[in-house]
Amino acid sequence: MEKRQIKVNGILKDISLLGFGCMRFPTKDGEIDKDLSTKMVNYALENGVNYFDTAYPYHDGKSELFVGELIKKLDRNSFYLADKLPIWDCKTKTDVERIFHEQLEKTGVEYFDFYLIHAVNKKYLDKVKELDLLKTLEKHKNEGKILNIGFSFHDDLETFKKWVEVYDWDFVQIQLNYMDIYHQQGIEGYEILTKKGIPVIVMEPVKGGSLAKFNEKIEKKLKDYNPNDSVASWAFRWVASLPNVKVILSGMSTLEQVEDNINTFSNYKPLNKEEYIIIEEVRNEVFDLSKVDCTSCGYCIPCPYGVDIPGNFRVYNNHSMYKNDGYVKWMMEEMSKRGASADICVDCKECVQKCPQHIEIPTRLVEFDNYLLEKGLKDERN
Ligand code: SF4
Ligand code: SF4
Repeated sequence: MEKRQIKVNGILKDISLLGFGCMRFPTKDGEIDKDLSTKMVNYALENGVNYFDTAYPYHDGKSELFVGELIKKLDRNSFYLADKLPIWDCKTKTDVERIFHEQLEKTGVEYFDFYLIHAVNKKYLDKVKELDLLKTLEKHKNEGKILNIGFSFHDDLETFKKWVEVYDWDFVQIQLNYMDIYHQQGIEGYEILTKKGIPVIVMEPVKGGSLAKFNEKIEKKLKDYNPNDSVASWAFRWVASLPNVKVILSGMSTLEQVEDNINTFSNYKPLNKEEYIIIEEVRNEVFDLSKVDCTSCGYCIPCPYGVDIPGNFRVYNNHSMYKNDGYVKWMMEEMSKRGASADICVDCKECVQKCPQHIEIPTRLVEFDNYLLEKGLKDERN
């Protein structure tokens, strides 16, 4: 197992480059399939994985409990545990303390090696100050209940830069993969952290599974070069080839995924020049499959009728590139709930003049709505 070094509590430690993300354990009858999940975790442990990442909301709060069951049999010095504070659930300082102690109790540990403020964005910049949150986390660090303090992030680059300056972080967790180099904080965020000497932990290296399967033509390109390697392994190796990435999280749901990832990280080789070129070609081919040249600039919104114009186009492009039906259905349900789906458009044309890309917005929204119907991603026209 490839290991990288991170200072934990000020001392350099060897940590497995593959981290076990505990948010997508296999389930049976709506509950974590404990037998299969235990088998997967044991296989990972036997093969050198020593980093586990859970969070308060994963599996409706049951991930922390299950992780607690798994690790109670292990020597506390043999693994590193990351947990996260759901900042959205913290209205007062008392909430922070209550949730933190609940997490220690659920996982059964006396300390978290890595503790993150979970999924921060613009709106939590003020909240972190209002709650004096970092003082509380630092107090727990001084008490030995937290060894490293960090945050995980989902927002734009400008917001990311602000978050990086909020505190002297021990590590930061970002979403990064070869298709998302300009998405959220993107690769520039990685470079900022590297310049500041902050270790990086990466989530969604395979973009929620989207980079594990492509159309035949793209897969052939990858298989022709590395016949024995999985499509997903290219995505992991792209991230792993960034030297300041210290842990790559994978939310594994099957034993086959664990085996494949162990294989990638046990026989790890950084990408060579030819492989970088192949990934560049794949990236371009996947982008060519997108439908609308929307840059998500937001100049066209708000729509007086509530349509989330860039949101609909993002989903449209996402499906045409990755064919991830589950994600699109879920996104469209969310969009419908907030009255923002494409079928709300009344063709008033108010948005059209505002689009610097000259997109015929209402026409393309109708096209997207028809696409959803054709693909069976929507039951009926509203
Ligand atoms: S044309 Fe449709 S999307 Fe554009 S502003 Fe009017 S209702 Fe909104
Ligand atoms: S103005 Fe055009 S490019 Fe910008 S978000 Fe709207 S549709 Fe997309």
